[in-house]
Amino acid sequence: MATSAAPATATAAAPVAPISLRELAPWALFSGILLLVLLYFIGVEQGATALFEGENIHEWLHDGRHLLGFPCH
Ligand SMILES: [Zn+2]
Repeated sequence: MATSAAPATATAAAPVAPISLRELAPWALFSGILLLVLLYFIGVEQGATALFEGENIHEWLHDGRHLLGFPCH
């Protein structure tokens, strides 16, 4: 005889609608692009590959650069 772990007074949860891949794809693409931009600024925005002049962006993201193990100095 199987026993149920759920209490007898538990109410039924509202059904959760599944999210289709068609709905999820634009958000996944947006998140991927955002992460790639962030990865660029943390990892590559320096020296010859820099899009912006000066060291300001590099200094702002310097700790993240070391945390993720990118070569720096
Ligand atoms: Zn450094």
